[in-house]
Amino acid sequence: MPSPFPWQTSVQYLKGVGPKRAFFLGKLNIQTLEDLLYFIPFRYEDRAKIKKISQVESGKIETIVGEVMAVSLSETARRRLKIVEIAVSDQSGVIKAKWFNQQFLKTYFKRGDRIMLSGPVKMNYYGGRSLEMESPVYERVGAHDTQLHMDRIVPVYHETKGLTSKQIRILMKQVLDQFGHQIPELLPLEMIQKYQMPSLSEAIMKVHFPEKEMALNLLNAGRSPAHQRLIFDELFILQTGLALRKKGVSDRRPGIQFHIQESTLTPFRALLPFALTRAQEKVFLEIKKDMSQGDVMNRLIQGDVGSGKTLVALMSILIALENQYQTALMAPTEILAEQHFFYLKPYLETLGKSILLITSDMRKKEKEEVITRIREGQCDLVVGTHALIQKGVLFKKLGLAVVDEQHKFGVLQRATLAEKGRQPDLLIMTATPIPRTLGLTLYGDLNISVIDELPPGRMPVRTRLYYGKQRQQAYGFIREEIKKGHQAFVVCPLVDESEKMDLKAAIALLSEFKEQIFPEFNIGLLHGKMTREEKESVMLSFKSGKMDILVATTVVEVGIDIPNATVMAIEHAERFGLSQLHQLRGRVGRGRVQSYCLMIAEYPISNEGKRRLNAMLSTTDGFKISEEDLAIRGPGEFFGTQQSGLPVLRIANLIRDADLLDSARDAAFEWVARHPALDDNESKMVRAFLERKWGGKLEWLSRG
Ligand code: ADP
Ligand code: MG
Repeated sequence: MPSPFPWQTSVQYLKGVGPKRAFFLGKLNIQTLEDLLYFIPFRYEDRAKIKKISQVESGKIETIVGEVMAVSLSETARRRLKIVEIAVSDQSGVIKAKWFNQQFLKTYFKRGDRIMLSGPVKMNYYGGRSLEMESPVYERVGAHDTQLHMDRIVPVYHETKGLTSKQIRILMKQVLDQFGHQIPELLPLEMIQKYQMPSLSEAIMKVHFPEKEMALNLLNAGRSPAHQRLIFDELFILQTGLALRKKGVSDRRPGIQFHIQESTLTPFRALLPFALTRAQEKVFLEIKKDMSQGDVMNRLIQGDVGSGKTLVALMSILIALENQYQTALMAPTEILAEQHFFYLKPYLETLGKSILLITSDMRKKEKEEVITRIREGQCDLVVGTHALIQKGVLFKKLGLAVVDEQHKFGVLQRATLAEKGRQPDLLIMTATPIPRTLGLTLYGDLNISVIDELPPGRMPVRTRLYYGKQRQQAYGFIREEIKKGHQAFVVCPLVDESEKMDLKAAIALLSEFKEQIFPEFNIGLLHGKMTREEKESVMLSFKSGKMDILVATTVVEVGIDIPNATVMAIEHAERFGLSQLHQLRGRVGRGRVQSYCLMIAEYPISNEGKRRLNAMLSTTDGFKISEEDLAIRGPGEFFGTQQSGLPVLRIANLIRDADLLDSARDAAFEWVARHPALDDNESKMVRAFLERKWGGKLEWLSRG
């Protein structure tokens, strides 16, 4: 029997790689042979069409090879740009090339070097006609290099200090010569045929060294057939995991069958000063149906900020409480957990139910007491942060877990909470509407309910942008609103990651307001370093109208509910992320009067910053905002892949490759339906692949 393919062999043991090389490869996150084979070029150059200098055409991108004749460094008088200029000749002619502010090139190029240049050609009429390339890509080429580095489509790799693209190319060629043809197949043959894909071995070889005929634009877009095969693999294995999970979830031992008794629901509805929206009713009906069936509920509620998700969650909690079960609500931050706690407490207490809060910054003794009460069943609803999923926290009888996600928790953390009970139902809330295909990926194991309507009478918040010096106008506007009897939030600049700095900025702003700008008003301060009692008392006094302005660090990002507040002013708005800005704006516009979001921005503003501010000005639709956010940040950062608990996508791009995501999903779900245990001969490869990619999570996947 042939030995298995050495995917996991450390690169260090490859021919041509020693400890030093391995160290540099490590800086590119390449540890194993597998990492190396999947380290795909970020760009390709068509050097199949190297031209003689005499034949290059002005206005085109051309590639030439020649010898360096001269190197010079100069500086422009006015803007003080440093320019490195070289002259290169082949038998047929001479061409100049120049680069701006890259002084190191002065010593990189040496007279007599043979180099390749590729870039846009210009005819320069300055002091006679001469050919010139501006900032071309360049590479030194040796006399023997023709085979690998020229006369073909050449892969270009990300470099790191100590390792050039060219060195990686040489190594890659050598490794592929040795291993390329042995790379084993991972997918069943019928699937490869059905989707007309190349074999894995062929795909990996061609993604590094494409055929001359392959279209350069497909390669550079990362969508050649070889690329598509590798992308399909990644998405297939992701979807197979989710398919197993979904199957595991529906197959597993029956969950709790709740009886809808209305013993608290009816009085609860009577407490509400308003009726639920049609969308809330619809979603609650879906939840009710899930909860009254024997299967475990796995449901996601998606709805924009302020659409009333929390209330629907609360009603679901009441169903569980009516059945004498405990419930848990997990939020991603301390402040959000606290805000949920304060919001829910009056309702629960009026209905004769108990509620506790658990956070990680609680004093040890206090925490232990809460934990004891949870264990002994003296608590109906516990609200908390990830402190809730710690080992020591045991429930007497957990029936429903609600996770307010705001896409900050991953799949695995959700699962850990659910494991705190015997098959409790799971309800997840998210304010991030996500494009359908992405939803299927991220939440492939969940059923989705959408609250697609805001409570009636809400007027869209008007958004305005003020730059630096116009700040006084913004303050003037705040004054007018307060004189009308309204209140305002002022959110302080995000200084950096550290809370200390945020606090300093908030205190400075507070004293400026008190002493100079708004001496006639009552101003309060809310920040993350306050104790819970302090925060509660500030929020209460703002809510009761004793304060006109609440200056806050971003702790108000989510949750606070003050209908009389009509202004949300955001200092240094250019520093905030788009979804953060949208969340902040969602804090106002909750009453029946017109509300305003005032974004105060300071120069300089990055291009991304401008895009974010513009997006805020152009729409209040959370769906559009989140699409724009996704476009600005890219899917990796948007979802925080590391936290999500999903396998890392190295090549696939969930937006660009939406079509492949669909076919990979079909293929995966079909395969799992036909081969549920993945134990037949054909599924062996799939299983091995799955184990490699999902690692230790395999058991969790199929157990559900
Ligand atoms: P979300 O969690 O979706 O951001 P919340 O549940 O926090 O929204 O609700 C936002 C505010 O709207 C709260 O003050 C809540 O009491 C109120 N609210 C919820 N549903 C309705 C409704 N049907 N009519 C009027 N107000 C509502
Ligand atoms: Mg909410």
